[in-house]
Amino acid sequence: MAAQPENTRIKDWKGYKGRPFMIAGPCSAETEDQVMETARQLAKMDQISIYRAGIWKPRTRPNSFEGVGSEGLKWLRTVKQETGLLVGTEVANEKHVYEALKYGVDLLWIGARTSVNPFTVQEISDALNGVDIMVLVKNPVNPDLDLWIGAIERIARAGITRIGAIHRGFSSYEKTLYRNQPNWQLPIELRRRIPELPIICDPSHISGSRQFLHEISQKAMDLNFDGLMIESHIDPSKALSDAAQQLTPNDLKELLSRLIYRNPDPSDPKLLDVLGELRQQIDIYDDHLLDLMEKRMKVAETIGRYKKENNITILQSTRWDEIIKKVMAKGLVKGLSQELIDTIFKAIHQESINHQMKVMNNGEKEH
Ligand code: PEP
Ligand code: MN
Repeated sequence: MAAQPENTRIKDWKGYKGRPFMIAGPCSAETEDQVMETARQLAKMDQISIYRAGIWKPRTRPNSFEGVGSEGLKWLRTVKQETGLLVGTEVANEKHVYEALKYGVDLLWIGARTSVNPFTVQEISDALNGVDIMVLVKNPVNPDLDLWIGAIERIARAGITRIGAIHRGFSSYEKTLYRNQPNWQLPIELRRRIPELPIICDPSHISGSRQFLHEISQKAMDLNFDGLMIESHIDPSKALSDAAQQLTPNDLKELLSRLIYRNPDPSDPKLLDVLGELRQQIDIYDDHLLDLMEKRMKVAETIGRYKKENNITILQSTRWDEIIKKVMAKGLVKGLSQELIDTIFKAIHQESINHQMKVMNNGEKEH
């Protein structure tokens, strides 16, 4: 396999043919054969930019496979020499960083169990000071956007410029469909807060099983993520870690071929015209919504004054119960989701209470 000239695959975090950036490889490096054979098969796919393999594995329980250690870095070096793929691994302390750098690893990522800990992230940042390498920061296990951003900032302070985030979902106590809750609003808010930061989705750790990989990957593409990191193993059933979520290189190829890439920045004037017209309608409705809420709050204030004059409590729970039932029934018929109706009306109700409180307690002059 001819070596890809460095950077053509990673420039501006765009993958092959300007498409999203693809990282694939086994959850863990297990043996030289497994690492090499998986890499040979993945290297045949032009879309794959970087080969991933965990060398040190943060396992939940101490008796699980904890990685092969530095020995595996030699295999990654061979992957790079033999296939031309760039290589990446997870680092969780400064020793990992020094070892990975010694073996010429191209990309480091900080795992979800590490990005929760500012001391460890700082230790890694110090070890990276002045080094020119790609670094991806996974979201912390808990859905705390500031903690995620803090970890990214610590790495950026080491002078790392090729930096990105990986969305791998969030732990929850309840048993859910997925292994980790995607909470898509967090990466969306991360994009709003740091628009220039590339965000890669890791459907493998969100899903926890092969069956959801495609739908999560497609969702990430629909949300204009910059890439995907998907675990792939030559024989997933024999994998020493995360067996249920890994794909064979062939299955990965098939999954990628089914992905639909949408255009984030249309330039065709006809298309832009139509979109512009529809967006104007949205803006008008948003203004209506604001006007309506303003009017609703004015009524709430009038009620507040009336309750004050007559010394009645603000909250009358039977009335609130009636409202929520009524709007839920009407809203569902209109095709709105239960979640939307619940969230919006609880927020509106809270705002009404706040307005009434203001009238009751702030000695506002009665009209
Ligand atoms: C991994 O990528 O193999 C890994 C351990 O992921 P996470 O940190 O997301 O659990
Ligand atoms: Mn894994």
